[in-house]
Amino acid sequence: MPQQGVVFDIQRFTLHDGPGLRTEIFLKGCPLRCRWCGNPESWLPNAELGVYKSKCISKKKCGLCLDTCASEDALTFYRGKLTKINSREVDDLAQVAESCPADAIKQWGTNMTVAECMDIIRTDKGYYDRSGGGVTVSGGEALLQASFVAELFAACKEEGIQTCFETTFHGRWKEVEKLLPVTDIWISDIKHMDSAIHKEYTGVHNQKILENLKKLSELDRELILRIPVIPGVNDTMENMVATADFILNEMNGQVATLQLLSFMRLGEEKYQALGIPYGMEGLKFNRRSLQKKIRGFSEYFNQRGIHCLVGTKEEQ
Ligand code: SF4
Repeated sequence: MPQQGVVFDIQRFTLHDGPGLRTEIFLKGCPLRCRWCGNPESWLPNAELGVYKSKCISKKKCGLCLDTCASEDALTFYRGKLTKINSREVDDLAQVAESCPADAIKQWGTNMTVAECMDIIRTDKGYYDRSGGGVTVSGGEALLQASFVAELFAACKEEGIQTCFETTFHGRWKEVEKLLPVTDIWISDIKHMDSAIHKEYTGVHNQKILENLKKLSELDRELILRIPVIPGVNDTMENMVATADFILNEMNGQVATLQLLSFMRLGEEKYQALGIPYGMEGLKFNRRSLQKKIRGFSEYFNQRGIHCLVGTKEEQ
């Protein structure tokens, strides 16, 4: 049986995760729980269902999901509207999602083979060639499915398609090694240099991430580093100085670009659909002040000889 990956999204013509025009494949499963994560549907490794309760017509007038779901206990209704689904109690997720005429039920996660992914990727080969683009695999944390990604990237390389791997780097080095022969560009974050604060806001310490970054930098690979700048979490000069020291002292000159990404409230409706509290609820910040601060950080990195951008692209 061919190897399968659990894919929760595929986006064509993306611009920000690697050069040129790209097809981006998002895989499920992540060991981190970043409070600002915009893709909570990526966290669990298995396929699951979410509920957009405001779209539900009502159990009385519709109730089609009940007809397709063998276990009534899997569905929770409140005031006649579906509010929650226990995906573990559902045998056929796709059937339940498709039963809803109002799109109130969303399936996140589909098993796909390399051949199925390649059928989609290949469609845009001409665009990759003209723009210097290719394929990016992201997550979640796609190192959890490294064998699948290695096979997918090998298929891309056979067809002359550039590959880019976006990772938290919180994973075992032996999984990274599977991807070394078939990955052209690596993208990773440094979220905080203080391990205790890193754990507080992401659920994991940063040692493994920094170790993997150092190991990769010994191998002469193209690496794009990112700092998601989160107000009240990592937006201090002290943290930027520590990050610059790490890049200059430990990364062997291998960071092609450092990108500073401004916090954005993303995915709140997906948290609601999954019944998970949003970790940045109540955060108040001034977008202009944050942008100004980020520009200042960028100047600082560039002054220290680190090629740094605000955002993902050079200004035109
Ligand atoms: S099928 Fe959709 S609209 Fe109908 S009751 Fe279920 S969730 Fe509501």
